[in-house]
Amino acid sequence: MNLIFLGPPGAGKGTMAFRAKEHFKIPHISTGDLFRAAIKNETDLGKQVKSILDAGNLVPDELTTSIVKERLQQPDATNGFILDGFPRTLYQAKALKEFSAIDSVVNFTITEDEVIRRLSGRRVCKSCGESYHIEFIPPSKDGICDKCGGELYTRADDQIDAIKNRLSVYGESTEPLISFYKNEGSLVNVDSSQHPDKVFEDLKAILK
Ligand code: AMP
Repeated sequence: MNLIFLGPPGAGKGTMAFRAKEHFKIPHISTGDLFRAAIKNETDLGKQVKSILDAGNLVPDELTTSIVKERLQQPDATNGFILDGFPRTLYQAKALKEFSAIDSVVNFTITEDEVIRRLSGRRVCKSCGESYHIEFIPPSKDGICDKCGGELYTRADDQIDAIKNRLSVYGESTEPLISFYKNEGSLVNVDSSQHPDKVFEDLKAILK
């Protein structure tokens, strides 16, 4: 099963992809994760994209597309995959069509206010990467990771200005993909403002 998870930042695509990869036994391919790993490892790619990610802008289409094309050629992706965060532009969607057939595009729907609430409250551990939310999943001690005692911080792209920029980039560049995939006949909608367990139930039902 070749899947695309579409939706604004903060819609919970990553959380659902994590569950879906276990359930369907297919790899979760997140371009955001690939870029963040490159930044952490200080590779050439990481150095090239760090300021773009921090500001919440898009990495150039050709570069992003070539990374995904290469990733999809890995043996673990031959029986299916979940693309999370790709494609994000019409250019990417058209390029993807040239090298891969997609079965379903899941569009996770959520309001802009809820996205801001989710992202601005997110805190990540500097040491182990564990994710918290000041309202929904608070750590036992303010600012300290329950798992490893590391310091919690707000990702640069979860700062309010970057969130607003990411949302406007989403509206301009990515939202048009909803009609693109609707026309292709592969779009399905899932209401992701619900509890994660219910979102996952709906997802499984729709992909059956
Ligand atoms: P995400 O974790 O999916 O929100 O992605 C984090 C950041 O990585 C985005 O704000 C972009 O800067 C970059 N990025 C991820 N996927 C793409 C993509 N398909 N095209 C361009 N930039 C991307």
